[in-house]
Amino acid sequence: MAKPFTIDRDRSTQRIENDIETLAGPDFTESDEAIRRYAYTPQYENTLQYFTRELEKIGFSVWRDPVGTLIASNVPKGSPAFGIGSHCDSNRNGGKYDGTLGVVTALEVCRLAQESGQHIPLRLISFLEEEGSGFGQMLLGSRIMLQRVTEEELKTTILAPDGTSFWDSAKAAGYEPEHWQESISEIDGLTGWIEVHIEQGRVLQDTGNRIGVVHALPGYVHGDFHFTGRADHAGATPMDFRVDAVIPAAETILEVERLANEIGKTTVGTTSELETHPCLINVVPGSVRVSLDTRSVTGGHVELRDHIVQYAKERAEARGVGFEWVERQSLPITPMNDGIVEALRAEAEATGEPFLVMPSGAAHDTMCVADKVPTAMVFVPCVDGLSHTPLEDSDTRDAALAAEIVLGAIIALNA
Ligand SMILES: [Zn+2]
Repeated sequence: MAKPFTIDRDRSTQRIENDIETLAGPDFTESDEAIRRYAYTPQYENTLQYFTRELEKIGFSVWRDPVGTLIASNVPKGSPAFGIGSHCDSNRNGGKYDGTLGVVTALEVCRLAQESGQHIPLRLISFLEEEGSGFGQMLLGSRIMLQRVTEEELKTTILAPDGTSFWDSAKAAGYEPEHWQESISEIDGLTGWIEVHIEQGRVLQDTGNRIGVVHALPGYVHGDFHFTGRADHAGATPMDFRVDAVIPAAETILEVERLANEIGKTTVGTTSELETHPCLINVVPGSVRVSLDTRSVTGGHVELRDHIVQYAKERAEARGVGFEWVERQSLPITPMNDGIVEALRAEAEATGEPFLVMPSGAAHDTMCVADKVPTAMVFVPCVDGLSHTPLEDSDTRDAALAAEIVLGAIIALNA
């Protein structure tokens, strides 16, 4: 099959490398040991200004939505265009690549489109506050744009660490949060959306693939098992007199692992937070809380939740232990658009480079965009799956390859 679209990958690699290294410099992070930047800080503003300058250089108009999400386009606002982008805020102890590599790769797609001499209408979006580092809420900019928040939350419950509301923080930074609902107009005319992101896992690296074409983003359930027994003296209470809350909790933890393996189909289950009371070596545990994080792109996580809650209840009852399941949050699976996934797959195949069609494990801004716009994502490998750490590392040659595949897919979809 003839490859319809190719780029000078070495040149793109150099430009992406230069963008990434520049944005890791002292003007763009609060810490010299990690990347640390979140909404409304000078370092975040410098980052948006860097993207603004680079996009204006190639003839894009650049503006912001009422709370600070950056938008750029080579056609007038609202007219049909294909959307690309990610986020450029970081985790509090973050690396150079999470989010930022997606915006940088989108910028490179814009450069390549302009240089191609073809008319390719594009819209780049860099969402505000994906990581939740500034205001404790993930996907905040994309949730605001897609109206997945309430004004009440923005004014009262979404807070900076010092207690200032998101609303007041946005105002202090010169934005107009009272117009937040108008942000939805920024997706008017979007014909599709592709986000490039580091994988944040080891699958691509360990299978020797350079690109992941993402076919679905996971649904998840977060909740807590609460087991209540009786705290007794660990020496004076014989084994058959005890109501030990940890025992059914331990059985439940093992069953989560067994069930996730049995259900399969991308299902994962994690019991990471274990809190026992009174947590003393010489006291039988009186109560214990065990958290559950379960995800899948097939519905396996719902099956796991239903089974494990019933199992935990039975194991608790068998030992005379009280039991309660408290669900914190759940989110449905976000399937990607078949047409865009297929266009990306065909472009990836035409490059001759190894790639994988795969689900995402993590949440992304694309989950919100997918409410209204046909979407897909492209992953590039990151070394040992490390992310949310200064050790995060990724090969910019893979990002250049991603830029080629994304632009090729957009051209094919527009044809
Ligand atoms: Zn990210």
